[in-house]
Amino acid sequence: MHVAVLGGGYAGLLVTRKLEERLPPEDEVVLVDETGDHLVQHELHRAVRYPDIVEDISLPLTDLTERATVREATVTAVDTDGRTVELDDGTLDYDACVVALGSQTADHGIPGVEEHATPLKRLEHAARLRRKFLDVVETGGGTVAVAGAGLSGVQTAGEFAALAEQEGVRDAVEVVLVEQADTVAPSFPENFRAETRDALEAYGVRIETGTTITEVREDDVVTEGGSFRYDMLAWTGGVRGPDALDGIRRDVRADLRLADRTFVVGDAARIVDADGERVPASAQAAVRASPTVATNVARVLEAARNDKPVEHLEKWAFETPGWLISVGDDAVAQLGPQVLRGSAANVVKSSVGLTYLAEHGSLRNALRVLREELGDGRVIPEP
Ligand SMILES: Cc1cc2nc3c(=O)[nH]c(=O)nc-3n(C[C@H](O)[C@H](O)[C@H](O)COP(=O)(O)OP(=O)(O)OC[C@H]3O[C@@H](n4cnc5c(N)ncnc54)[C@H](O)[C@@H]3O)c2cc1C
Repeated sequence: MHVAVLGGGYAGLLVTRKLEERLPPEDEVVLVDETGDHLVQHELHRAVRYPDIVEDISLPLTDLTERATVREATVTAVDTDGRTVELDDGTLDYDACVVALGSQTADHGIPGVEEHATPLKRLEHAARLRRKFLDVVETGGGTVAVAGAGLSGVQTAGEFAALAEQEGVRDAVEVVLVEQADTVAPSFPENFRAETRDALEAYGVRIETGTTITEVREDDVVTEGGSFRYDMLAWTGGVRGPDALDGIRRDVRADLRLADRTFVVGDAARIVDADGERVPASAQAAVRASPTVATNVARVLEAARNDKPVEHLEKWAFETPGWLISVGDDAVAQLGPQVLRGSAANVVKSSVGLTYLAEHGSLRNALRVLREELGDGRVIPEP
């Protein structure tokens, strides 16, 4: 049997690892990714302040897989009826497929966004944002705007503010975080939002909630209530589906099945879980849904092998122990009903990053990241 896993992010890598364990050795697993590397995307904003972190958060997929074939190619289309994947360098037939292509940044058709704003999804975006920020500093300061106050926007604004502090230009650079909803971190509980707002304000970030951007011009951001001048703009204002799925995040239910032998997981899907809850696009959800997808792929392949219908697919329910975000060197953690802030939250955030990297990268990488996160104050022994 031939299994295609499309995308080597959190969901794609973890599904591949599980399939490598579960499927019989004669089954072939091909992992397709256009970069050939696994990006620890939930740490990407930190590369704006610490460019050296790049080598720790971007790891070759060939180092992280056991027997799967890694194919570096761009997926352009998926034909679920024909069980074929179109790639920029050929086609791939499959008996089962997992679409884990993640999301793309949505500009919601707002004029000027594509032209004037920089998204944050890839390493090159982080490098571009850093360069632009340092240009603003060099030319005497100005307004650094971030559009969208979800997980990535909040953390990006925090990095800019911390970088301004590090560069000694806190008075010359104003960081503005613009959000259409009435609050930062709108999908999160009230106590988490309040702490996040406090953490941003403690860094001097100006927060403009309830503000809808209607156009981005060369020097001005136009909103429904007026306009303001900006010197650079980071766009973290929403996600859409991958182009290979017509730009649409596909709706799936708790078995994560898109079609007969095709599954979708991670940001590429809009998932309603076994409890009927809509699952937020997040690394955490992508990671947690992966075992269910691997189980269901193994079941459809087993049924196909025996020429029988699939009797039962596993249903996934998203259970989260909480959320963790960084705001510069500060951090906010929500663990159950409790919200932690500052160093306690930072330790939790670091240990989560550490666990992820230690499992999927190397311990050396993990300890480097931890050292960066905690600053110079702690002694972390080399492995
Ligand atoms: C700055 C930032 C901070 C974040 N912070 C958090 C956080 O604190 N907590 C949290 O839970 N989430 C966070 N997120 C969100 C999280 O990173 C995403 O939800 C997560 O990466 C989704 O995982 P995924 O596996 O679905 O997709 P991705 O991790 O995006 O992986 C998709 C993979 O598919 C590949 N790919 C894409 N298109 C193609 C194609 N056409 N052909 C071939 N390959 C392709 C890509 O190269 C990539 O390897 C953050 C995101 C950002 C940007």
